Amino acid sequence: MLTRDQCLELDRNDPLRHLRDRYHVPDGMIYLDGNSLGLMPKAARDRVRKAVEQEWAEDLITSWNKHGWFRLPHTIGDKIARLVGAGEGNLVVTDTISVNMFKVLGAALAMRPDRKVILSDTGDFPSDLYVAQGFARFMSNGTQLKTVAPEAVVDAITSDVAVVMLTDVDYRTSRRHDMAAITRKAHDSGALIIWDLAHSAGALPVDLLGIGADFAVGCTYKYLNGSPGSPGFVFVHPTLQKQAMPPLVGWFGHAEPFAFDTQFTPSAGISRMQCGTQAVLSLQALDAALDQWSDVDMQAISSKAHALGTIFIDAVEASSSLTLAGPRTMSTRGSHVSFHCQNGYAVMQAMIAQRIIGDFRAPDIIRFGFAPSYNTHVEAFDAASALCRILRDKSWDRPDYLAKKTVT
Ligand SMILES: *Cc1c(COP(=O)(O)O)cnc(C)c1O
Repeated sequence: MLTRDQCLELDRNDPLRHLRDRYHVPDGMIYLDGNSLGLMPKAARDRVRKAVEQEWAEDLITSWNKHGWFRLPHTIGDKIARLVGAGEGNLVVTDTISVNMFKVLGAALAMRPDRKVILSDTGDFPSDLYVAQGFARFMSNGTQLKTVAPEAVVDAITSDVAVVMLTDVDYRTSRRHDMAAITRKAHDSGALIIWDLAHSAGALPVDLLGIGADFAVGCTYKYLNGSPGSPGFVFVHPTLQKQAMPPLVGWFGHAEPFAFDTQFTPSAGISRMQCGTQAVLSLQALDAALDQWSDVDMQAISSKAHALGTIFIDAVEASSSLTLAGPRTMSTRGSHVSFHCQNGYAVMQAMIAQRIIGDFRAPDIIRFGFAPSYNTHVEAFDAASALCRILRDKSWDRPDYLAKKTVT
């Protein structure tokens, strides 16, 4: 286990140290919830102000051309593509993960008409499972969602599976799937695969083209710091873009939206994954956020994620009896760390009262997201010390900490 001084030393020598200054860190706060809503990039505030005061207020409708509003989903998409190995022109920013999941699930199922099973795991993010359940109901042709334990996924990919739908990093335990191996198995069995990168994009290196992923979706308000509710992204492998037909289409996905044809003709490329008018102000915040990543090496991000998580795990285990909820080593875990904790909700409230921000996930998980672009090694150490202190002195045991709020 490292000492606090050793953590400070690591911060001094951190090759990513210059990045922290690009974000607004609230005074006296240790923010470990960047896996849920990332810190605000300072450039986003300026960009949104300009978008409101100049582009919206003054230039109005001309801004679609003049300020490139119409192309933003693609220009931002290409910036995200670099972080997830998607290649140019294969990823577009639009809608939410849930909506994009509906589109790619529908597109994938239509490409495997003889198969009826959507395979996922029991730890998948509930919204993805809800979308799959909703899609199966909507089809009413025997399409069904099957879930198995995360460790059982590979063996469950049988010849009746049309689509494998998985999240790379488990939102609760931080356990990572072996994306390459599962993608290979899916393809060997004739299935298509959809990866959800919600907790991967901006935290870990991902190589969508390298592993041959068919589809991927992700969000931008977590590690990418796009702003609350900033739009998600959707990737379709270049070899599938002409066949993949989303069940949800609209004029922004038309080959010629401004021809105002009454018949839908899908655009040839990734653009068909857009439906309607895009949320321009959110896109502007997101674009400014993505500019912070242009010089960032994802291997350095991943090494630092490993270091931060390890410092935290070691320090918590040394001074408490909490049990780690997921894997220990970075090869199989994401950038957040979770512990099983009795009265975890109240414990987290006591942490938050000390301005150390993590979150709670039912039934008993306390979760700490380490964003390598701005969190420091000493923050990981100090958060662990505070957690152990709270557990020792039981300062969490107060009615106001025990009463649950709407958003956990
Ligand atoms: C956060 C998260 C989502 C969010 O979906 P939205 O539709 O964008 O709200 C989806 N999947 C996973 C795995 C997540 O962690």
